Amino acid sequence: MITASHAARLSPPGSDWRTLWREAVTDPRDLLTLVGLEHLADRLPAGDAGFSVRVPRGFVARMRQGDAHDPLLLQVLPQLAETLLASGFSTDAVGDMAARSAQGVLHKYEGRALLIASGSCAINCRYCFRRHFPYGDEMAAAGQWRKALDHVQQDASISELILSGGDPLSLTTAKLEELSRGLEAIPHVTRLRIHTRLPVVLPERIDDALIDWLARLPLQKVVVLHANHANEFDASVDAACARLREAGVTLLNQSVLLRGVNDEADALAALSERLFAAGVLPYYLHQLDRVQGAAHFEVDDARALALVEAVRHRLPGYLVPKLVREIGGEASKRPL
Ligand SMILES: *Cc1c(COP(=O)(O)O)cnc(C)c1O
Ligand code: SF4
Repeated sequence: MITASHAARLSPPGSDWRTLWREAVTDPRDLLTLVGLEHLADRLPAGDAGFSVRVPRGFVARMRQGDAHDPLLLQVLPQLAETLLASGFSTDAVGDMAARSAQGVLHKYEGRALLIASGSCAINCRYCFRRHFPYGDEMAAAGQWRKALDHVQQDASISELILSGGDPLSLTTAKLEELSRGLEAIPHVTRLRIHTRLPVVLPERIDDALIDWLARLPLQKVVVLHANHANEFDASVDAACARLREAGVTLLNQSVLLRGVNDEADALAALSERLFAAGVLPYYLHQLDRVQGAAHFEVDDARALALVEAVRHRLPGYLVPKLVREIGGEASKRPL
């Protein structure tokens, strides 16, 4: 019998994740052509609307052909609406993020320190604050880690280190090993958490070397995925999740509530069911960060609450994500 994890191991030659990363679609016209919508090319904004296009081909393959409203396509296709100024939406997150990344480590919440481990992502999501802050991966420099690790070492109240970004799994496994060697020398850190979209958008990243590293790590391991719609899952994503679980990882998911993508009770319920089928529990459903260029994705709070209430009626409690908004300066995410 070929199990999911065996299937993942039998990847065809040429599927090395770094090669696939490089081969991502970066021209919005190519993207439209690949999904049979080339006639919509004249509706694209001029240039890249301030944020480059990047979509792994495997993710494009999960989009429906000929459907301009496909929930995966809408997350990555530049829209004219991005170029309109919306009041209440800012690029302030930029300054905030710049300060954060210069420091490398963010210690806002009790017991948990967050490390901006990398500025790179395999996919560029149009709703992301990153659109105003295309930072390189200078955070990956070992010197920066030394400072961050020193901070963690000196504060015995920190029991969990969170690797975030960008996408921390954009780093090579050798780099991650370098970081975890430093961590293993800090006895009060018992958990390593990784916030990543790669198992979903480029599941080939979950290769033998990464799994070996995780399986050998003498820490509790949590991976928080980022998927917004059930259609983002296919057999390759299932296989990546199965391998992570076999390596002793607890799998959670965070989503962003996005108008036109997942702002229906059916879509949210289907996402929770699909996550659970892959061995993943829903964790957070985020209200959108109010960044300039993302206003057309916003869902108001009243509707957001009604949607989560509808999901609560339909699904077991463990499949209902917590609806939250991130507010600068607060000691935790704020539940709605
Ligand atoms: C979101 C976040 C965390 C993690 O919060 P949880 O509620 O534990 O998921 C930790 N630190 C910072 C700075 C964060 O923004
Ligand atoms: S993967 Fe995450 S950090 Fe990267 S662009 Fe998408 S939402 Fe932003």
